Amino acid sequence: MNWKAQISAEINANRATLEQLALTIGENPELGFEEVRAANLLTSALQEAGFEVTLGIAGLDTAFCGTLGQGRPNIALLCEYDALPELGHACGHNLIGVASVGAALGLAPFVGKLGGTITVFGTPAEETGSGKVVLVRAGLFDQVDAAMMFHPSSQNLLMATSNALDAYEFEFIGKAAHAADCPEEGINALDGVIALFNGVNALREHLPDGVRIHGIISQGGTAANVVPARAVARFYIRAPRREVLSGITAKVLNVAQGAAMITGTQVEWNEFELGTDNMVPNHSLALAFGANLQRLNVINIEEFAEGRGSSDMGNVSRVVPAIHPYLSIGDGLVSHTPEFAKASVSQEGLQASITAAEALAYTVADILTDPLLFKAVQEEHARLKESSVL
Ligand SMILES: [Zn+2]
Repeated sequence: MNWKAQISAEINANRATLEQLALTIGENPELGFEEVRAANLLTSALQEAGFEVTLGIAGLDTAFCGTLGQGRPNIALLCEYDALPELGHACGHNLIGVASVGAALGLAPFVGKLGGTITVFGTPAEETGSGKVVLVRAGLFDQVDAAMMFHPSSQNLLMATSNALDAYEFEFIGKAAHAADCPEEGINALDGVIALFNGVNALREHLPDGVRIHGIISQGGTAANVVPARAVARFYIRAPRREVLSGITAKVLNVAQGAAMITGTQVEWNEFELGTDNMVPNHSLALAFGANLQRLNVINIEEFAEGRGSSDMGNVSRVVPAIHPYLSIGDGLVSHTPEFAKASVSQEGLQASITAAEALAYTVADILTDPLLFKAVQEEHARLKESSVL
């Protein structure tokens, strides 16, 4: 049976619907955890194709799960659909959601014959809330054998690592006073924040390559003639491996404590976003996806690159074999820019999302019909776990 030709025919039959979905979500951007319209549109499409859908899972209103089929292997296709403040879909997540739903629609008529289960997860707030971390912690990947998605980019790339990330907010508390009349009565909370920045900068000399620490002052006082009683800073701390990052984050927290001590302020901190783990792509699965891209006449495919950003897909890759490949939606594009937002609703963007849907669906069919591939994917994951890479 030529599954792949049939899958492509099915995706092409749904092409107009999928493109309209990508445009509607792209032109009506919703921020993380507020993606009500996008989640409704994607789940409706799955329901119409026969998937059993639950909207609102793991305590997240805009997360969803759709399943079709029975037993193992159980392959998960992941949707993202959150946008960025002011920039809209400048990371092209509208195309991600539609590609995974498109793959599911392409597979739907054949699931019974292919065997196994297709699970589509709606994973909200990739940019700001790490929805996948919540899903992983809720155990939703416990019965999953592999997880896949694609991400729009300026290049075609099968495997990229990503940095593990911790997100901390530091609140320094001092004491207000007239800055000229009686400064001796005040304690300057902004000095605590400035000492934190200086301490972090001193730390940089002793950090391993690839570490990134970048912060902002989100509150630094209200008037120049009042000693600031409260000042707040937010930091992202990143490193190529979670194990390395945990040690560095501990040092940054020590710096915060020191900053409070030398300025006489009090400091408290919290994680303003869930931290994410570094991405470890499954080579066997990524190469299978690459072969399918070639079959779809995609050219200029790079195999591997080290990534500097972070994604909650990293946490998924820790618990199941996972891939997060990239497809170009335009040369020279930089994500999180107005140009990228434009490309995410362009013809090239829509085409990338359809191609991704086909390649994802082909790869699912490969796993379901090729026991050797399935075994290779599982064994690679087990090997990485044994050697503590995961
Ligand atoms: Zn993104």
